Amino acid sequence: MIKQNNFILFDSREEFRLWLFQQKVARPIYKIQNHHTWIPNYAHCNGKNHFERLEAMRNSHMRDRKFSDIAQQLTTFPDGRIAYSLGRPFDIAPAGIKGANANGICIEHIGNFDYHGDEMSAQHRQTILFINAVLCQRFNLPVHTEHIVYHHWYSASGDTVYDLNSGKRLKGIPAKSCPGTNFFGGNTVSDAQKNFIPHVKVVLAGTAEPDIPIPKRSEEVTNDMVGLTQWQQEMGEQAVRSLAEDGLLQNPKEWQSRLHENIPGWLFFSMLERISTMNKPSK
Ligand SMILES: [Zn+2]
Repeated sequence: MIKQNNFILFDSREEFRLWLFQQKVARPIYKIQNHHTWIPNYAHCNGKNHFERLEAMRNSHMRDRKFSDIAQQLTTFPDGRIAYSLGRPFDIAPAGIKGANANGICIEHIGNFDYHGDEMSAQHRQTILFINAVLCQRFNLPVHTEHIVYHHWYSASGDTVYDLNSGKRLKGIPAKSCPGTNFFGGNTVSDAQKNFIPHVKVVLAGTAEPDIPIPKRSEEVTNDMVGLTQWQQEMGEQAVRSLAEDGLLQNPKEWQSRLHENIPGWLFFSMLERISTMNKPSK
């Protein structure tokens, strides 16, 4: 391992695992958070600039987002390497997912794993499965979607927008698509139950990973006409409804039919809604 400034970079997955089991952690850990960074992504990594990327993320989190240090305890790279944040040790809660930080560990996977984003490398894939497996092992957590969580399963206010056991979609708007609409074949709870959790279990069992193909997120889940996934469409429609109810928008039906135009409407209106919610006087 190499220790440099604010980070430790491990030489191998096995070196990380041995180190992990030597760490004393007083904070109870129940949630392993999976995120993608979106930016930086694969284009920003050259296999030599791990520390440069880590320090840049730390600077941006501290300067732009006013965090006390980098948000995450752990970072994974396209070449499969793992880094630990000395300024965000396991005993300090991460700034990853509102509602899942107090007992959480945050892992940022460098890349853009949205549909049409980066194609995850084989080394990275193996590391992502491995890091989730060994964290469950270290903190005695069942390999289950109640403990291995995606950012997408939470709203900006920190409520779960899926039932983490059954996978049923609940009310509320996901804060992000993170860790990506194409992360191991999709970002919903049932996607994870189908395409992620079983692979983590195999890695945990210590056997070689079998060759189970991970389906690409298929076009059938997108609305053909507008190219929006179901949750994007819902998010946009809900935002338009809410703005119309507040009298901030007229002709909601027309706006809902235009969600797909130019900048993604679902995103635009969700941002507007958040701004208008922030500006509302508290009752
Ligand atoms: Zn995230």
